[in-house]
Amino acid sequence: MHSRDELWSRLTEETFDLLIIGGGITGAGAFRDAAHRGLKVALVEMVDFASGTSSRSSKLVHGGLRYLEHYEFSLVFEAVSERRVLQNIAPHIVNPLAFLFPVYDTSRVSMNTLRAGMWVYDALALFRAPKTHTTLSKRSLRKKEPALGQDGLKGAPLYYDCATDDTRLTMETLLDGLQRGGVAANYTRVDGLVKNDDGRIIGASICDEIDGRRSEVRAKAVVNATGPWTDRTRAYATGAAPLLRPTKGVHVVVQSSRLPVSHAVVCTHPEDKRVLFAIPWGEQTYIGTTDTDHEGDPAAIRATGEDVDYLLGCANHYFPEVDLTRDDVIATWAGLRPLISQEGSTASVSREHEIVVDPAGLITIAGGKLTTYRKMGAEVVQSALNLMALFGQVPDGVGDAQTGREPLPGAVGWPENDDASTVAAEVVEAGLGKVSDASARYLTNRYGTRGLDIARLAASNQGLAQVLIDERPELMAEVDWAVGQELCLRLNDFMCRRTQLYFRDNDQGLGAAEAVAERMGELLGWDEQRTTEEVLAYQAEVARSRAWRSD
Ligand code: FAD
Repeated sequence: MHSRDELWSRLTEETFDLLIIGGGITGAGAFRDAAHRGLKVALVEMVDFASGTSSRSSKLVHGGLRYLEHYEFSLVFEAVSERRVLQNIAPHIVNPLAFLFPVYDTSRVSMNTLRAGMWVYDALALFRAPKTHTTLSKRSLRKKEPALGQDGLKGAPLYYDCATDDTRLTMETLLDGLQRGGVAANYTRVDGLVKNDDGRIIGASICDEIDGRRSEVRAKAVVNATGPWTDRTRAYATGAAPLLRPTKGVHVVVQSSRLPVSHAVVCTHPEDKRVLFAIPWGEQTYIGTTDTDHEGDPAAIRATGEDVDYLLGCANHYFPEVDLTRDDVIATWAGLRPLISQEGSTASVSREHEIVVDPAGLITIAGGKLTTYRKMGAEVVQSALNLMALFGQVPDGVGDAQTGREPLPGAVGWPENDDASTVAAEVVEAGLGKVSDASARYLTNRYGTRGLDIARLAASNQGLAQVLIDERPELMAEVDWAVGQELCLRLNDFMCRRTQLYFRDNDQGLGAAEAVAERMGELLGWDEQRTTEEVLAYQAEVARSRAWRSD
């Protein structure tokens, strides 16, 4: 990995074919596509990669069964096709997940309608879903999901989609683009666009959010992939009407012992009949999501007490014996869907994406889904090439991108039969007796075959083989890995995105914050004051995420 100074020098001294603003999944997908085509590409992200919506989704790679209700067949077809592609290029982090859709005698959608929908869903996947759907009787449902309420229960279709880790998917997509020669910098904010004498955009002014230095990046084409910030970024180039109608979605996390589900359970909220999920997540279960219009600063969103009560209310309705209370909530996350503006209810707003090129040449991509990011990336890079072609600026030797065939970094060397346990056994071996089975499984599921490198790091130094929190699998070696290989610059980055301690640990990782900050300080040359500031900033982030408790 290049040092930050080297990255910054490259960003500001070279001229790029393409500059991408925004390091969420949309920007990452375009970055990888451009790098695969042989374009000289740079990406800048104002906070950390995936710190926006792309770490706050429902973490599903799915067609979106419910979009069939709105007759969005082409969106569902594209998404189920991409589901298959992502299973192939990222099998370590895109895994089949079984969904149950319980039907009660009071349900809004009847069993027959659902069954018909399931056939359409499987047909749109050309019958290549992870498994074909089936229907469970009330009796077998009771065996499979004993906590589910039985009153008026008729049965449930069982179907398959995929679960992923949205942050890792973003990170691995970026890492692949970096390996192909792209330049990407986090904590680098665009605060203006640079135009030539003809008024055409030829770059952006940037500010280093770590040390305040300023400069410019030059590029033949500039892509705005700033998700919920899309209209703010467009305002640097154009006075056009806003494109977006952002809606907020909240999830809550509880221990799986408090809400034990072995399938993702699809629920329609008893009050407004919106579709929600209770999703098994290893030792935890998460429940989501809300869908409410949001205006104002995207960075300021958080779960409110009302959001949390709404989600717990739904879970308690479907799982009446469980009786979840606010005290059961370990963590929450709130994200903004960067949806294209439309009239109607929030749930009915289309998840399709749009690409808009404004007169000064800023190429904006907005809307869409995590699931379809690879195709969105390809489309927006093609738009950039079309624009370059108008000015005779397409570089020589630009080829096709094989992003649907080439594995992401953690999938290189992954077994054909998708057997994670064989990789985990190799990780144990690479750890030379210092990495437990639980940590090896965790490293495998998170980093794929790159878990082997982290185990080797742990084997090289007893301190790095330590777990960060007793009874948890995360290792100190991950700090070295994150700083050395994954552009981790702040304590928050490590706790919230390079690992999931913030979401999964009972105390949101606070118990490990100081030790991690000290190790990061050694690696990044922080003084004592900076190390303390990092810990305080993390504590403040945790406090902010718990503010709903006093609503
Ligand atoms: P973001 O991830 O927000 O990225 C934009 C980035 O731009 C941010 O990191 C931001 O910091 C950066 N930025 C902004 N301004 C600047 C600037 N001036 N300079 C530099 N950087 C800047 N999709 C699915 O397929 N499956 C799901 O299960 C799913 N569930 C969802 C659940 C919820 C609650 C939500 C909100 C969305 C869900 N989605 C899902 C949709 C999906 O998560 C989003 O479509 C996707 O993450 C958007 O990614 P993005 O890169 O466009 O935006």
